[in-house]
Amino acid sequence: MTEQAEMAEQAGRPVGIAVLGMGNVGTEVVRNLVEKTNDLRSRVGATVELRGVAVRDLARARDIDSSLLTDDPQSLVGRDDVDVVVELIGGIEPARTLILNALKAGKSVITANKALMAAHAGALSAAAAANHADLYFEAAVAGAIPVIRPLTQSLAGDSVNRVAGIVNGTTNYILSAMDETGADYADVLTEAGELGYAEADPTADVEGYDAASKAAILASIAFHSRVTASDVYREGITEITAEDLQAAKKFDCTVKLLSICERLTIDGVEKVSARVYPALIPHDHPLATVNGAFNAVVVESENAGRLMFYGQGAGGAPTASAVLGDMVMAARNRVNGGRGPLESTYANLPVTPIDDVETRYYVAMKVADKAGVLEQVAAEFANHGVSISAVRQEGAGENARLIVVTHRAPDRDQSATVRAIEEMDSVIKVYSVLRLEGTDD
Ligand code: NAP
Repeated sequence: MTEQAEMAEQAGRPVGIAVLGMGNVGTEVVRNLVEKTNDLRSRVGATVELRGVAVRDLARARDIDSSLLTDDPQSLVGRDDVDVVVELIGGIEPARTLILNALKAGKSVITANKALMAAHAGALSAAAAANHADLYFEAAVAGAIPVIRPLTQSLAGDSVNRVAGIVNGTTNYILSAMDETGADYADVLTEAGELGYAEADPTADVEGYDAASKAAILASIAFHSRVTASDVYREGITEITAEDLQAAKKFDCTVKLLSICERLTIDGVEKVSARVYPALIPHDHPLATVNGAFNAVVVESENAGRLMFYGQGAGGAPTASAVLGDMVMAARNRVNGGRGPLESTYANLPVTPIDDVETRYYVAMKVADKAGVLEQVAAEFANHGVSISAVRQEGAGENARLIVVTHRAPDRDQSATVRAIEEMDSVIKVYSVLRLEGTDD
């Protein structure tokens, strides 16, 4: 159907919404849809009507007119009076098929599903473009925080060089608590589970998979290139110790799980780096003050300079805010004609492996308390072409420690240096290796 024909058909007609999933986020979306019909009608320019809500378990008690519930999401998506499908089931299937079928039928889709967008954005965007439909996913990265729309629209005329942020609330809660209390990772993880900040299976969060999905989405839209979750270098926080946090403090730093997306020129070729790892950042860096379950994203672009986005990165109501914002946009487009911006991957930049990315390292080791150890360790760094920025010697006897902070060098050379140091007779144990971010040198 042409846009004009669609508009003519839509004129005076309500916009029909199907919500798939009524869990943490879906419940809040449905509540707002029911309670704010008048505001939504004024903002959209037509009545917004909830046609149905798909769930898995129809027997569960829910705060909704039960006639709206179905356990058949496919039939709901296929209804003629559904114009916009809001996918809040999560995971790859059946979400992927449901979204594809909705788009192929010309319906607009809103999703909060980062795992899906990080793996299948290409096919989903192509289906949206081919069928003249909107595909919005603001809630997939950093919950309530507007970051997708600023990148795709507000900064559409600028060139983004770097997007770095704290985009996983669970790991940020754990690292903040370890920093504040001096407690160990395992104890804080248990407490985070009890308080509802960590899931029963925390793997996706603590191993960095969730942050990697978000890095893939951010890198793709920031650099107009396709980056998938499997392109993202990833390390989680499971190896971080209370000792790491304490040692970081001595360098006036804290430890954060960072998602970093950069446009780099390596050997004259422009490339994208997307990576997730726990890193030391100085206390005076804007991301160092982002604590607890909060998220923040810092965007650096050629003309705008540095922009920071901060707020609640998860939770039913905050995430619903982003979903509803997308829904209003898609509904307005139905009423007024036109579509939101399509995905742009024209730059087609290759993704560079972590080995080629220049990083700074912080290496803490237990050493033999004898003359010449510092010189031997320094020589090993020099052998690998890695220059040292700062050294701290602590303790004596069995407690002799050496902490080295390096200047930038290819990650390949930094990690090779660490491997070589681990083999040295005078080094008893390398007990902490972290990258250092947020500094210029
Ligand atoms: P959730 O609480 O687990 O809810 C999932 C919902 O989907 C449930 O209502 C479930 O039904 C329903 N469902 C599951 N499989 C289904 C199927 N085959 N057919 C029909 N319904 C099905 O998930 P959530 O936390 O709301 O998250 C939803 C999405 O938002 C995910 O993509 C997530 O990554 C994203 N997100 C969540 C947050 C957050 O803070 N929670 C933040 C940002 C993004 P039952 O109720 O019957 O089990």
